[in-house]
Amino acid sequence: MTQQLPRHAEVVVIGGGIVGSASAYFMAKSGVPVVLLERGPIGGEQSSRNWGFVRQQGRHPLELPLAIESNRLWLNLETELQADIEWSQGGNLALAFDEDRLDQYASWVEEVRDHGLETRLLTAEKTREVIPALKGKLAGAMYTPTDGHADPTKTTNAFSNAAAREGAIVISGCAVDEIITADSGISGVSTESGYIETKQVVCAAGAWSERLLRNIGLKLPQRLVRATVQRTTPVPPITQAGVWAGDISFRQRRDGRVILAGGGADHDLTLASLRDIRRFLPNFRQNRSLFRLHLGRPLLRDIVDVVGIGARSQHPFRIHFALPTEPNRRVAVRALEHFQKIFPSINDIQSEEQWAGVIDATPDAVPVIDAVDQPHGLIVATGFSGHGFAMGPIAGRLVSEMIFDGTPSLSLEGFRLDRFTEGALAEPRSVL
Ligand SMILES: Cc1cc2nc3c(=O)[nH]c(=O)nc-3n(C[C@H](O)[C@H](O)[C@H](O)COP(=O)(O)OP(=O)(O)OC[C@H]3O[C@@H](n4cnc5c(N)ncnc54)[C@H](O)[C@@H]3O)c2cc1C
Repeated sequence: MTQQLPRHAEVVVIGGGIVGSASAYFMAKSGVPVVLLERGPIGGEQSSRNWGFVRQQGRHPLELPLAIESNRLWLNLETELQADIEWSQGGNLALAFDEDRLDQYASWVEEVRDHGLETRLLTAEKTREVIPALKGKLAGAMYTPTDGHADPTKTTNAFSNAAAREGAIVISGCAVDEIITADSGISGVSTESGYIETKQVVCAAGAWSERLLRNIGLKLPQRLVRATVQRTTPVPPITQAGVWAGDISFRQRRDGRVILAGGGADHDLTLASLRDIRRFLPNFRQNRSLFRLHLGRPLLRDIVDVVGIGARSQHPFRIHFALPTEPNRRVAVRALEHFQKIFPSINDIQSEEQWAGVIDATPDAVPVIDAVDQPHGLIVATGFSGHGFAMGPIAGRLVSEMIFDGTPSLSLEGFRLDRFTEGALAEPRSVL
């Protein structure tokens, strides 16, 4: 839905991914006049390219209260947003092919015991009851029956449509070029279609947040991780659970098609990630086998930008300056081979479409959800590090609570932007 750019807004949300769209929805529902600006189509980046897992299982302990509360919102989301988002509460199943992995799962279950999550370890036999077609050696699994999955594009659009129904002005195809500050606060945003006067801005710009914030003197350590996904031809029912199976992860859609991802991700080096390389090192070391480093076009573009050549250095957020979305074809082929190996009875399956999405990750793989001190009036909700689809609804509600009465209903202490400069990072965990 695209409307006319107003001259004034109570709140401007930058970014129409799931976080920005959910923020706009909850604000509009609370009666806050809000404008949502998206440089491309709504949900055109990560929020439509992800796997669609809505997972509490395996989350960073810091994120878990938010993931649990988000899960409660997901249960009623189709009714709340008046839309079919293909929600399926089939649980999340993390397979363990050896005892070491099962021990790791047992430690996580122990670590988060007090949160009251219904996660249990399954024997190999019980695991096969959840996923009968699975063949080969198996030690067991970790299973959270309250987890689920949904369609990413439908969900993000459902949020922005519901926001518009509640009175939000939703404008796609309109990049914010700059957040304008004055007297330690915000005075407006300049966009490719004109200027909007406002005192409150929510930065939910995903992979572009680092640059937007850098332009107003804020430091957000951010790296870009390109993850490859494919959709297969329809196959007979496998399981309703979202599944982690070592080198692959998958979920089966209602139409029988499988959304399948291969192990690891491509890490496109950028000037921003190099600038903060020290902060990212612990995570790199911990997940060394998961990352393939690339010195390619994104870094070259950054350098050209710094030198100040070309239109991109003037208007970096305009839609024709896209993120790299080339899938890693080798990863996709291997993922399908691996899938066929563990499900030998499913022999008629082909790859229908492959794509990639760029994940914005922080050094501790935990997001920033913060009303920063300066400039006053700015809320940053970004850096969801591969977890933002599941967390989108609660992130949106918390942003709305911060705007509406200044106090979020859950503690956001661990999600402050300042933690990076203060060295108060959470212990890093895996990005995916
Ligand atoms: C392959 C892949 C698999 C994933 N799997 C999962 C999963 O299974 N479960 C899960 O929970 N998460 C998953 N994620 C992560 C999840 O998709 C993201 O964390 C989430 O979508 C982040 O939402 P967002 O709104 O913060 O960012 P985005 O969806 O990236 O939205 C940001 C938006 O801001 C817009 N924008 C940026 N700058 C400007 C500007 N200057 N002006 C106007 N608009 C601007 C962009 O165009 C973009 O649409 C996955 C991600 C990928 C890529």
